[in-house]
Amino acid sequence: MQDNRLAASPGIVLGFGLATTLVAVVVLFVVQDLTETELLYSAVIGVFGALGGATGALWQNWAQRDNALQLVQTEHNARHDALTGLVNRPTMFAELNRSVEISRRDDTVLGVLFLDLDRFKVINDSMGHDAGDELLRIVSGRLQSCVRGSDVVSRFGGDEFVVIVRDLATDASVIAVAKQILKKFSEPVSLYGGAQVVTTSIGVAISRPDDVRRPEDLVRDADVAMYKAKQNRSGYAVFDEEQRLEVIDRLDIERDLVKGLDEEQFVVNYQPIVDTAARRLYGFEALVRWKHPSRGLIGPDTFLAVAEETGMMSRIGELVLREACAQAAVWNHLSDDARKIRMSVNVAEAQLLDANFPAIVAEALHWSGLDPTQLVLEIIEDVIVDHMEGLSTLREIRALGVGLAIDDFGTGQSSLSYVKEFDMVSTLKIDKSFVDEMESGQASVAIIEAIVAMAKALDLRVVAEGVENTEQLSRLSALGVDFMQGYLFNAPVAADVIDPHSWFAERGLRRKDDPTALEPSSEHARPARKG
Ligand code: C2E
Ligand code: CA
Ligand code: CA
Repeated sequence: MQDNRLAASPGIVLGFGLATTLVAVVVLFVVQDLTETELLYSAVIGVFGALGGATGALWQNWAQRDNALQLVQTEHNARHDALTGLVNRPTMFAELNRSVEISRRDDTVLGVLFLDLDRFKVINDSMGHDAGDELLRIVSGRLQSCVRGSDVVSRFGGDEFVVIVRDLATDASVIAVAKQILKKFSEPVSLYGGAQVVTTSIGVAISRPDDVRRPEDLVRDADVAMYKAKQNRSGYAVFDEEQRLEVIDRLDIERDLVKGLDEEQFVVNYQPIVDTAARRLYGFEALVRWKHPSRGLIGPDTFLAVAEETGMMSRIGELVLREACAQAAVWNHLSDDARKIRMSVNVAEAQLLDANFPAIVAEALHWSGLDPTQLVLEIIEDVIVDHMEGLSTLREIRALGVGLAIDDFGTGQSSLSYVKEFDMVSTLKIDKSFVDEMESGQASVAIIEAIVAMAKALDLRVVAEGVENTEQLSRLSALGVDFMQGYLFNAPVAADVIDPHSWFAERGLRRKDDPTALEPSSEHARPARKG
């Protein structure tokens, strides 16, 4: 309403001014016998009327221009990102849609570049949001300087940008733009006085004229490639067929996991851990397997990462924990010797972070009736170091009487800052990579020696993983490692392959090269690749 009234005012002023001038002119020229004073007044009124008319006309012109400007501004705001002034996400998709059509029509190549700044969160958190905003503006400018005017640079959200480069002849031209951007990013940015190098990872999706992918598919593929670039620290990565299959495979696994959990397709295999000094079975490590309806029996390397990313790891972990406790309890019933063995169960990061985890462990023990001292929980070293706050959870578990083992010891950040917490830990598991490298690398021998010495001082048990031959067995024994696990003794097997009466009796080492050893059936013993 107010706008309409405002827009009407210059018109009224103009009209009034013109009318006044007209009256003055009529009086001046039509009325004959005017006195000198009347003549003067008429002239003054005429001049003021003309001035009023001119002001009204100018005002009207200005108001019209302003309205038009406002309209343009509103439209611009709807299509652009307020912080950087770049094209926003919906506009980018509209542009991409148009570009795909043009590429088909003109037989040209089109590139979609998905960028994500590395460590942006660190800068934002440490230097403040103003610095973060400033950085995003600088980055926007840099991106625009790397492309042609006809290309599109858009802010996708947060610290993510999508660049559309169009009208190109070859794939190489698209990649050249990605390289150009990386080069530009290698120059330091000056942010509030300090120079910062801000790097980015770029995923590239290339669309040729015969491509049937929709705009959203291209952006998704570029995003997948960006993830790859970030993982490989390669700067940029181009989406290819292999990645497409990986994505499809991953989506399949994700979907099947939900079904697999509901339909109880997960089973637990057990791999013996032997006490080579005492020449007897020490215990088992429980390792999860998936009896997939179409893929067959698959190992954890294929699905654990997906389970972790999709938040399903806790459910799988709990299932393995309960199953392993129940199995150990069953064996206790069947053989007195079984009561001396330990059952090791792997604990994933998500489980450790769950405040409810100690209660879940307590419940599994109570439900199965297993003696807590027979249970050992294995946690990867990096997970412990990354989550020192999870240590209170560990303390609660330790209080139950359960043992704790540090898995893949020596491969992680090996920050010994948690050494003081070692009173909670009962076992160190030397990673298979050190066992493998023993023959070739003097360093591995030195590391194993150091781990053994440290374990002795702290009164910890040391288990070597992935022992595959007698050569390794004797070298490890000479280094003072008494507990071993590996294909030399047995691959992980299903529980029904394990005969408690023969396995748990103190009958010496159950080795593959031992003629008295049970040959595990091929289906169950399918060796799983170590991740
Ligand atoms: P890990 O805890 O280091 O388990 C040992 C892995 O080495 C197992 O692989 C085992 O089958 C394999 N292995 C044992 N001896 C040998 C050998 O002599 N040679 C070779 N090449 N490999 C050997 P698997 O079963 O495929 O498990 C891979 C990883 O998946 C495990 O590594 C563990 O980190 C994880 N995982 C398995 N089950 C579970 C589970 O129930 N929960 C959690 N959180 N992780 C699990
Ligand atoms: Ca383990
Ligand atoms: Ca391990």
